[in-house]
Amino acid sequence: MATKILTVPEKFYECEVKRRRVRANGPGYEPFWRLKALADALLDGDTEFRCKDCHGPLKLHRRHTPGTASYLEHKFKVDSEHCQQGARFIEASDGRAHRQSATPVA
Ligand SMILES: [Zn+2]
Repeated sequence: MATKILTVPEKFYECEVKRRRVRANGPGYEPFWRLKALADALLDGDTEFRCKDCHGPLKLHRRHTPGTASYLEHKFKVDSEHCQQGARFIEASDGRAHRQSATPVA
């Protein structure tokens, strides 16, 4: 089967990161997701990322060379095909609708 070459590679520079906050009603902390620029997330040492649109897992590409930015892409092709910011979704011409990841990061 031929692999389709993407005309626009998938690169995200923004994502949701998992943070913790003091629980509103009671003791302890609770996790929540916050939208953040990847550059800031890396500086802050965040390690848990998910797609801001489909909540699917992402793959991090770290770049250490000056002038090149680290970026994220969907970990799974199926998310790229059905998430509204996925490169494969954007290239699809069948009028498909955005859908949430079947394997969301909770
Ligand atoms: Zn997505």
